[in-house]
Amino acid sequence: MPKIIPADLRKYIEKNFSSGRLVCLSGAGISYESGIPTFRGKGGLWEKYDPAVYANVQGLTRLFKERPQRLIDFLRDFYTVLLEAAPNPAHLALARLEKEGILKCLITQNIDGLHQQAGSRNVIELHGDAFRTRCTGCIASGELGREKIKEMLRLLAGGQNSRQKTLRILSSYFPRCRKCQGRQRIDIVLFGESLPEDEMARAYKQLAGCGVLLLVGTSLVVYPAASLPLYAKEKGAELIEINSQPTAFSEVCDWKIRSEAGPALAEILKILGYA
Ligand code: NAD
Repeated sequence: MPKIIPADLRKYIEKNFSSGRLVCLSGAGISYESGIPTFRGKGGLWEKYDPAVYANVQGLTRLFKERPQRLIDFLRDFYTVLLEAAPNPAHLALARLEKEGILKCLITQNIDGLHQQAGSRNVIELHGDAFRTRCTGCIASGELGREKIKEMLRLLAGGQNSRQKTLRILSSYFPRCRKCQGRQRIDIVLFGESLPEDEMARAYKQLAGCGVLLLVGTSLVVYPAASLPLYAKEKGAELIEINSQPTAFSEVCDWKIRSEAGPALAEILKILGYA
């Protein structure tokens, strides 16, 4: 098999990936090989559903009031893709690097939970997790889980639902918060919403002390997540981009691996003697 990673970068990886100062920032591209389309790529959910409506609190609220069945169709399509996906070699390689003490932290913009499923533990989720709930009052988070989502979709699938029936079903999966009686919702950051402050603070802290930042499968056009690599660079980190296409950040990166994430990360494991 021809090698993806050139000789000079192989040497750099051998020398610099042993110190536990490696951090990774991942985006939608890392889950592409698991069957989840990227945000800007072809064939994704957002070709069918306008994100200005479906990735926006006001849009979703209006939809629920005016076209509840359309909201159900969206929830079904959104979760079906996520439920069918399993971690791919890229997620598994990053989990292995953490287990071996090389990767100290994984910062992700993804909401699919695949890093945790692969075994990663120190994961900072900047945009939330579609399988968790968050209270709109006190921000307490809860587990929603894959089985509950499947059950909810089955209940919602029973023919044309009235607004009342839809509300009854949704309310039973997103009940009032026990602590503050606030309404619970899916724990993902929608358009126009702020990123969770504690997760951003943790990300900055990890990046301040990292030696190398791996950027995997992200176009880095979404702020403030896109500010993180510049911060890491300012603090002295070297940036390695793994992406099948050039991005607006490629020029800033010290190293570029122009490949799909799975084969590239599998090769990094080999270089380090873990495969
Ligand atoms: P993006 O869609 O803007 O960019 C994806 C990037 O991945 C592109 O640069 C593309 O060239 C690259 N890519 C595609 N396939 C790849 C592969 N196999 N290997 C390596 N690189 C590959 O995604 P983004 O930068 O993460 O920003 C989009 C936003 O949408 C994020 O906030 C994210 O939360 C959300 N989103 C998440 C998921 C998910 O959870 N899986 C999926 C779609 C969108």
